[in-house]
Amino acid sequence: MGAYAKNLQRRLRNPLPPAAVSMIREGAEAREKAILKGIFDGNCNVTRCQRVIKGENWFNTSTRAYYCGTCAREINRWSQRDEGKVICVEVTDPNDKPPFPR
Ligand SMILES: [Zn+2]
Repeated sequence: MGAYAKNLQRRLRNPLPPAAVSMIREGAEAREKAILKGIFDGNCNVTRCQRVIKGENWFNTSTRAYYCGTCAREINRWSQRDEGKVICVEVTDPNDKPPFPR
């Protein structure tokens, strides 16, 4: 159960029906995913991935969003092959946003 559903249940005198708990949890998880997608220490920006990237932030100089190492290396493999450019760079500081390579 997610934190939101747990807190809501704690506030109520009677426990929530299981169906309501799962509806709340799914909604909270979807909102959380939407908020964290592609941000520093959030989740990978690739929709089908969205892996937690805490401690492994790769900045994509083209989309200006953050990716996990696996997706960033895959993107770099293609960008190097097609344009001879490395477009994803691993960063440790959210203020470090390298420009797109010339
Ligand atoms: Zn990824």
